[in-house]
Amino acid sequence: MHKDIATPIRTKEILDKYGFAFKKSLGQNFLIDPNILRKITEYAGLTDQTGAIEVGPGIGALTEHLARSSKKVLSFEIDQRLLPILADTLSPYDNVKIIHEDILKADVKTLVAQEFEGISDLMVVANLPYYVTTPIILKLLADRIPLRGIVVMLQKEVADRISAKPGTKEYGSLSIAIQYYTKAETVMIVPKTVFMPQPNVDSAVIRLTTLDKPAADVVDEVFFFLVTRSSFAQRRKTILNNLTSQLPNGKEKKEQILDALAKADIDPTRRGETLSIQEFARLSNELHPIFN
Ligand code: SAM
Repeated sequence: MHKDIATPIRTKEILDKYGFAFKKSLGQNFLIDPNILRKITEYAGLTDQTGAIEVGPGIGALTEHLARSSKKVLSFEIDQRLLPILADTLSPYDNVKIIHEDILKADVKTLVAQEFEGISDLMVVANLPYYVTTPIILKLLADRIPLRGIVVMLQKEVADRISAKPGTKEYGSLSIAIQYYTKAETVMIVPKTVFMPQPNVDSAVIRLTTLDKPAADVVDEVFFFLVTRSSFAQRRKTILNNLTSQLPNGKEKKEQILDALAKADIDPTRRGETLSIQEFARLSNELHPIFN
């Protein structure tokens, strides 16, 4: 087994060798604690049959753990300066492919199909760049890549919103967008000291496990997500007020919206944050014929 990249000493050595300066704008906070990396890898439940997809390898700290524990790693890195460094640090591993692309622009679905042909167990595992955590997770879910799940480090505040339950102040359209497809759990709170440089915010690791089928029966997913976003537009407003002000021509359709709320058995004076995913599904199915 090779010496870990993710120790403070080795990381400094690598950064000095290449004169690498961190770019804050790319969310570059590298992990320097092998124990955290081992735990992240364990939570992902990788085997020698798993295809691991990583976003942002940095200098390869997590990548090498993934390479050791999975069949193959496909890793997307936006920063060109890291490519020669990765070629060096990951040279002991022959099962890693680095793609120099912005994950948000990449055709991840096609690349995954090409690179993981014959591999059915797919996991995303990453220490995400914090400036784009939510768009990355939503893209991976929306692309409908056949993932077993996602285990990622991100800001604790975002982890709290993703795994929030109805009736809490963290619960919102992000919780629903993710819990519609996955079971969401915060599995670890992580101290700032395991990063170089240390981020300004607290961090956590979440595990998203893809559900066999979405959490609720929805006739039109795009409309369902529009209804959920609209319902949280102003958190202090009632669901009725949010829907009439947010949905197209909602004010003129107030009576029909009231009728749909009644049919879905939802009190119009409730606030969005009290509705479960199943209630939102019922409501959007009743509203659907009115707006489509
Ligand atoms: N995995 C490494 C680690 O744990 O030490 C680095 C994690 S660092 C938080 C985030 C990494 O994502 C950086 O290497 C950064 O350059 C890269 N990155 C930032 N934005 C990206 C994007 N849109 N697509 C792909 N990689 C990105």
